Amino acid sequence: MRALFIFMFLATTASAESPKVVTDIAPVHSLVAQVMEGVDTPDLLLEAGGDPHHMALRPSQARALAQADLVIWVGPALTPWLGEALAGSASVSLPLAPDLVEDVDDPHLWLNPDFAEAWLTVIAEALSQIDPDNLATYRTNAELAQQAVQALTQKTATQLDAIGGARLLAAHDAWGHFADRFGLQIVGAIKSHDDAAPGAGHLGETRDMISIGAVDCVLSEGVETDALVATVVGDSGTPVATVHPLGAGIDTGVEFYSGLLSGVAQAIAACVEAG
Ligand SMILES: [Zn+2]
Repeated sequence: MRALFIFMFLATTASAESPKVVTDIAPVHSLVAQVMEGVDTPDLLLEAGGDPHHMALRPSQARALAQADLVIWVGPALTPWLGEALAGSASVSLPLAPDLVEDVDDPHLWLNPDFAEAWLTVIAEALSQIDPDNLATYRTNAELAQQAVQALTQKTATQLDAIGGARLLAAHDAWGHFADRFGLQIVGAIKSHDDAAPGAGHLGETRDMISIGAVDCVLSEGVETDALVATVVGDSGTPVATVHPLGAGIDTGVEFYSGLLSGVAQAIAACVEAG
């Protein structure tokens, strides 16, 4: 009798086990968390604030990757190291933007919510394939999340309409997709994401842009770029917004994605209006 009870308990636990899902960055984690709501929570490899372009996996992260059933990530253009780590792994890999070319294409796609909206469908389908028992939940969650992203996009577009065409200088070249979607201009970047430090010639050019009044707002990413931004802005009085493309400082989870986009839009609008 007792043996039977234990057997039934084990069987129940096994069938209720949900897939182990690992995500690369906090924005993708948030989208996947929305689709998995009510089933389980995905893991996050790169804590917000880390540098996705350059990273070495800690042993615990390598283990999480090796044990994952499904790895959902932007793609090799953003995190080449993750592509290498996945090459020898048995986990199912879902790169959301597999065709981007490193150093050529801008991999910061999540900053255009149209991509996020499309990715929700792909995420739900991949989850349904490895966990068909929860297919209905994944699809319903994805539809609800898409409605939320649409509302967020509408709200952001309305908010940024007032500063349409604003000229932004970025600390690092991350904001092209955001600017294109919402009618803003990126007039330059202080450093590309592969530069450890920008050259003197390039710094001089960005200073010149500021001194002739060609920049409405400079986008810093916080402590890591504040000093660099300060050397470019000098005493010009050009306003600076602190916006982080990976949402450093925002709590991870289902609310993260809307928090990231709303926060960025609000900070940029306030910055341009202060100029
Ligand atoms: Zn970047």
